[in-house]
Amino acid sequence: MNHQIKKAVSTLQTWGWDDTFARHFAPFAEQGYSVGRVTLEHKRMYRLQSEHGELLGEVTGKMRYEATGREDYPAVGDWVVIRPRAEEKKATIHALLPRKSKFSRKAAGETVEEQIVAANVDTVFLVNALNNDFNIRRMERYLILAWESGAMPVIVLSKADLCDDLEACLREVESVAIGVPVHVVSAERGEGLEQLAPYLGAGQTVALMGSSGVGKSTLINKLSGSEMQRVSGVREGDDRGRHTTTHRELFQLPGGGLMIDTPGMRELQLWEADEGFRGAFDDIESIAESCRFNDCSHMREPGCAVQEAIADGTLEKARFDSYLKLQRELAHLARKEDARLQAAEKEKWKKVHMQMRQRKPKR
Ligand code: GDP
Ligand code: ZN
Repeated sequence: MNHQIKKAVSTLQTWGWDDTFARHFAPFAEQGYSVGRVTLEHKRMYRLQSEHGELLGEVTGKMRYEATGREDYPAVGDWVVIRPRAEEKKATIHALLPRKSKFSRKAAGETVEEQIVAANVDTVFLVNALNNDFNIRRMERYLILAWESGAMPVIVLSKADLCDDLEACLREVESVAIGVPVHVVSAERGEGLEQLAPYLGAGQTVALMGSSGVGKSTLINKLSGSEMQRVSGVREGDDRGRHTTTHRELFQLPGGGLMIDTPGMRELQLWEADEGFRGAFDDIESIAESCRFNDCSHMREPGCAVQEAIADGTLEKARFDSYLKLQRELAHLARKEDARLQAAEKEKWKKVHMQMRQRKPKR
């Protein structure tokens, strides 16, 4: 490797570049393309970090034309194939490199649309507060989301200073978090944060997930040693003032780790909590807490509190039916989207590789 290439690679590595991305990028490199990582998305304009420094990128008309859905557009954390115009600090984005992991929200309309809120996260901290809000069910849900994303989940129990019975909480957590690391911290007091260091090594990307108020911002500020989360230069109600100065949704931590904190990730949490399945059927969920079995399907298990409630009239049969129906729909939605994505991804890469082969210069 010559000196210049080495320097470029090491710049990219500070932003999370690795051998897998390099392998996917190889056919593009042969064509003289460059590469960058998305640190901010705003109205289909993308801030990128690249070997040419920070660039402002826009997708090409061709890429827009070929996009089959929102998931084909870059998201924060994505590696994108670019043609830089270094003098202007701009770039055109030609393609996305395959995502190692992704967090998305699904909008169900006529077709299922997937909106990516963060890509290429290595580790996701599932933050739960050790106070009254402590909720094992919610944690279970976040764990499912995390496993689906492809990122590695790590449970962070925050506000340790507010907990009276840590032992009991830990036992509960360990009952659902099989094989998942659990760390107890108090961001406010700066206690236990050193346990998170192994996930925050150079070029490692982390994101935080957890309900509002559990202490995510406080934790991010502590880890970044500054008020990263205070958006500088934002003028209320003025879009042009937004995102102009130092604000990034993917940024470097002092130790070399990379943090993703996008509004989408935050909305995902709200969405999960507010519009989520369980929220809509709180009554049934709370009856179900008295079922004898934790994983009761409320169909024919002994000691099912839901069936008892239907029998004694405290729960309407019709409501229970719609609960079951929604449950089935959600499962169906998840399967449908998954199959569609897999097919689309396969098709796309077949096309890309074919194009690459055709374009290879003849010797
Ligand atoms: P976010 O909504 O998840 O980003 O939560 P914030 O970081 O904004 O924190 C919500 C509240 O919890 C704030 O008032 C914080 O000061 C408080 N908080 C955060 N971390 C801790 C902690 O470790 N201990 C205690 N006692 N309070 C905390
Ligand atoms: Zn039951």
